[in-house]
Amino acid sequence: MIPFDWVEPASLKEAVSLLDADDSTVRPISGGTALMLMMKPGFFVPSRLVSLAKIEADYSSIRAGGDGSLRVGAMTSLAELERSAAAIVNFPVMKGALQTLSNIRVRNVARVGGALAHGDPHMDLPPLFATLGARVSVVGPDGTRDIAVEDLYLGYYQTVLKNNELIAEAIVPPLNGARAAYKKITSRSADDWPALNMGVRLEMADANTIKAARVVLGAASERVTRLAQTESLLTGAIVNDGLLKRVSESAAAEARFVSDAHGSAAYKRELLRVYLPRTIKEALS
Ligand SMILES: Cc1cc2nc3c(=O)[nH]c(=O)nc-3n(C[C@H](O)[C@H](O)[C@H](O)COP(=O)(O)OP(=O)(O)OC[C@H]3O[C@@H](n4cnc5c(N)ncnc54)[C@H](O)[C@@H]3O)c2cc1C
Repeated sequence: MIPFDWVEPASLKEAVSLLDADDSTVRPISGGTALMLMMKPGFFVPSRLVSLAKIEADYSSIRAGGDGSLRVGAMTSLAELERSAAAIVNFPVMKGALQTLSNIRVRNVARVGGALAHGDPHMDLPPLFATLGARVSVVGPDGTRDIAVEDLYLGYYQTVLKNNELIAEAIVPPLNGARAAYKKITSRSADDWPALNMGVRLEMADANTIKAARVVLGAASERVTRLAQTESLLTGAIVNDGLLKRVSESAAAEARFVSDAHGSAAYKRELLRVYLPRTIKEALS
């Protein structure tokens, strides 16, 4: 391995100052589960890694707001989030979704900030958080900006984050009675990377009428995508078999699919067509 600098700042502010706006070989490292895999074959060769392991403990905490919201520090491990009582009570969809994410060894080490910043479209946390309407707080040398999770991604492994910006925390707004479901469909073993993952969040006007909808797709496309046309078809609609059929056709036509090792674009389109009505039913059940 080519030698590189390793630094362990004691604060987030110091970590930001050790990054370099003009040099992408200077990278932050959280759990290292993604970065190390890219370094081993020489795909990524760092000049300096800025470890976030010793920044303020606040960034490893999960805080529940009185309104049912959740603030999740970027250095919280995925396993801590999965086991968090506040997350389990306020967002019942979260635990099951996180348990489909790889295995417990990875979840013990990987951090929320790393999972959101990596930009691999197959990952589970970005579509899950986008479904729930979460935002991230991003800190750079000029201050803090607030970004909706679905707006973080530009394309395959590309995010809007600058080289010298860090995700500090994620804020998940309260469900306020909305229903949410998340599905991950793999083409090989259950804990493999997904061919398609999908989240649905529905606010209901009454038992059968949808007031507002979020439909988010991951893995099948180049980046986490909200299906806006499908959402508007659901908004104000009464749930019945006819609606579910129209919605699945709309989503299959609206999404932009990519073929990869987990399935062809045609296969993923079919998965979406079949699984979207099931996910909506699960959210309502
Ligand atoms: C065997 C295996 C199976 C997996 N299966 C799945 C799966 O099924 N579903 C899934 O979702 N994921 C899966 N993963 C991926 C795993 O979720 C990611 O590797 C992990 O989430 C990355 O988090 P990390 O803390 O280790 O990030 P790191 O490796 O530390 O960093 C990842 C990227 O984010 C940047 N970064 C880190 N922290 C920050 C921050 N706070 N602000 C800005 N940038 C930051 C780094 O510079 C790097 O570019 C799997 C991983 C492995 C090894």
